[in-house]
Amino acid sequence: MKLIILGAPGSGKGTSATYFREKYNLAHISTGDIFRANIKGGTPLGIEAKTYIDAGKLVPDSVTINMVADRLKEDDCKKGYILDGFPRTIAQAEALDEMLAKNGEAIDAVLSIVVADETIKGRVSGRRVCEKCGESYNVTFRPTKVEGVCDSCGGNVVQRDDDKPETVEARLKTYYANTQPLIDFYDKKGIIIEGDNNNDPAVCREQLEAGLKAKNLI
Ligand code: ADP
Ligand code: ZN
Repeated sequence: MKLIILGAPGSGKGTSATYFREKYNLAHISTGDIFRANIKGGTPLGIEAKTYIDAGKLVPDSVTINMVADRLKEDDCKKGYILDGFPRTIAQAEALDEMLAKNGEAIDAVLSIVVADETIKGRVSGRRVCEKCGESYNVTFRPTKVEGVCDSCGGNVVQRDDDKPETVEARLKTYYANTQPLIDFYDKKGIIIEGDNNNDPAVCREQLEAGLKAKNLI
């Protein structure tokens, strides 16, 4: 099964992706995580990506598309995968279609995480992540037991540089301008499945799983 998960920053896209990865044994390809790992490692890719990410802009399509093309060639992708944070532009979506079509493949479904605009800003500004294991928390909705310490691994829990209020606004603008049009792009192909993540994430997952069942994918 080849899935895409689509949603605004702070929609809970990453958390849902983790759930699907574990339950259905999929490779989880998060472009944001790959960029952050490269930034941490000080690679040329990381150095280039950081300037865009800290400004709330998208890393250029050419860089991102090549990076994902390489990642999809790795062995673990054979079992199926969930793309999280890619595609983010129509050009990326078209490039992905082409990459897959070369092997006679296609994306099976696009999980669209729906959250009201008002909710999103609060979620992003309150988000904290573990530097060590990547676990996601929220100061209001899901605080750590001990402030600043990861419940699962004891690592440092911090705010991502691009979750600072000045950057969040720019990221939301980028999302609406570049990424939201993808919903229409995939809707035309008839492969969108919606999950309402305004309230309980369990309800959202149930809706998404019902959609996958209806398509005989699970
Ligand atoms: P979120 O979905 O919460 O905004 P991500 O971790 O998915 O966060 O991405 C963080 C940043 O990495 C984005 O704001 C963007 O700058 C960059 N990025 C991630 N994926 C892509 C992509 N497919 N194309 C271009 N830039 C990307
Ligand atoms: Zn941790």
